[in-house]
Amino acid sequence: MKSSSPILVWFRKDLRLGDHHALAAAAADGAAVIPLYIREPADSGNGPLGDAQRWWLQYSLSAFRESLQQIGSDLVFRSGDPLDVIADVSREAGSATIFWNRRYDPNGTATDAPLKKALVDRGFTVNSFAGQLLHEPTRLFNKTGGPYRVFTPFWRALEASGEPPAPIDPPERLVAPERWPASEDPDRWNLLPTQPNWASRFTEIWTPGEVGAADRLQTFIEDTLDGYKTARDVPADAGTSLLSPHLAFGEISPTQIWHATRGLTETPVDDIVTFRKELAWREFSYNLLFHNPDLGRRNLDRRFDGFRWLDNDDHFERWTMGHTGYPIVDAGMRQLWRHGYMHNRVRMIAASFLIKDLLIDWRRGEAWFRDTLVDADPASNAASWQWVAGSGADASPFFRIFNPVLQGEKFDPNGDYVKRFVPELADLDARYIHRPFSAPQPALAAAGITLGVTYPAPVIDHAFARDRALAAFQEIRNAS
Ligand code: FAD
Repeated sequence: MKSSSPILVWFRKDLRLGDHHALAAAAADGAAVIPLYIREPADSGNGPLGDAQRWWLQYSLSAFRESLQQIGSDLVFRSGDPLDVIADVSREAGSATIFWNRRYDPNGTATDAPLKKALVDRGFTVNSFAGQLLHEPTRLFNKTGGPYRVFTPFWRALEASGEPPAPIDPPERLVAPERWPASEDPDRWNLLPTQPNWASRFTEIWTPGEVGAADRLQTFIEDTLDGYKTARDVPADAGTSLLSPHLAFGEISPTQIWHATRGLTETPVDDIVTFRKELAWREFSYNLLFHNPDLGRRNLDRRFDGFRWLDNDDHFERWTMGHTGYPIVDAGMRQLWRHGYMHNRVRMIAASFLIKDLLIDWRRGEAWFRDTLVDADPASNAASWQWVAGSGADASPFFRIFNPVLQGEKFDPNGDYVKRFVPELADLDARYIHRPFSAPQPALAAAGITLGVTYPAPVIDHAFARDRALAAFQEIRNAS
């Protein structure tokens, strides 16, 4: 039945028109719709956002507003506590109905559950809808009725649970209210970096917004999905989808991506399954976070609470700047500066280096990534850092310590990735590109490299660091 007053639709990390359950329900009602975006206090709801994601948000919001305008609507921007904002906007609009898509991270649920109750107590009709996952985290449980802690059985259960429901179409038109409530200007929210503008090269690869996401998906399916299984591990190749920041802001839903990989008879099944498994890792991470809200703060394996981290600030700084003297690590950390992104293989190597070679608490790395990645995600980031540390669920064991030289030689054999992001090594013979510290002096001289001057000497000797890490791990094993 059509509502007589406008329906507010509150958008959070779901800045899209397509496959948006709350928006579709509001549009189907036939009432006027008021799309609303709230800049929430930093420590609640969507926050806190890292600096790289603030950059993304600026462009994502303006792209989304444009899409809404194209279908006869608009986006109202407000700042403040959601309860106050919703009450104010509703009063201005003469509305008492609000729809939103659910969030599954601890900040989001801690905001939404009491908010819903407070709004209902004030006489609002509040409808929430399935959000940003293939399946809600209350759907898949293991044989004993508990949440999954191991990926493979989770994946099997996900596969066995059938295809996720088909994505729903975007509304063609939205009914505008007779009078729009007042709106702020997000250009005045100071989301973009100024001095220095470290994000100046982000636009080389990113187009925030739903249209950018759809283009990315189409290009990936047409050009890259075939061969994904092997190419995804080669950082120099554009072998992955680069959909992660679009997913993080909900400019595309995982259901839309999943369904776009159906019926591709020409594409090898192995490539499709491997790609879907990656989407399932995101899903698994959300399940872990939903059932362990302190995943980003506490070791799931409590033995690690007694781990003796060294937390050397100078080493941490060298890692963040990409000055460790290990080219594959430095290239990754500099890719992060340049594009707010790092290839998955290199994320694993750089994270392992921080945790195991430098013995720096994984939580510092997690926080750095949260601040600098455009795809920073409360679930995938926390779960991945715990996975590398060995402190998480279904984690890689601590004693699996990546050798940054061998990893570089295996996954970037010609040094193309390193040369792209560490230009001071560009002329070094490929034989030494991952180990400039063992290159003969003439090879360094021919490439114009002076170790310790034009490129750093290693911050630590890997063989020494490996033994030290294993000894530290043995201590917590002995203590348990
Ligand atoms: P593709 O290979 O095209 O994969 C498709 C999608 O699957 C990705 O967009 C992503 O949503 C999901 N996915 C892929 N790999 C993983 C994974 N290992 N865990 C969870 N989801 C995955 N991913 C984030 O989205 N946000 C993060 O904050 C994040 N932090 C990470 C931190 C560390 C230390 C590590 C090792 C990995 C992290 N990842 C994170 C996972 C992964 O590196 C990225 O999802 C991937 O590199 C994104 O690139 P893509 O979209 O081209 O991936």
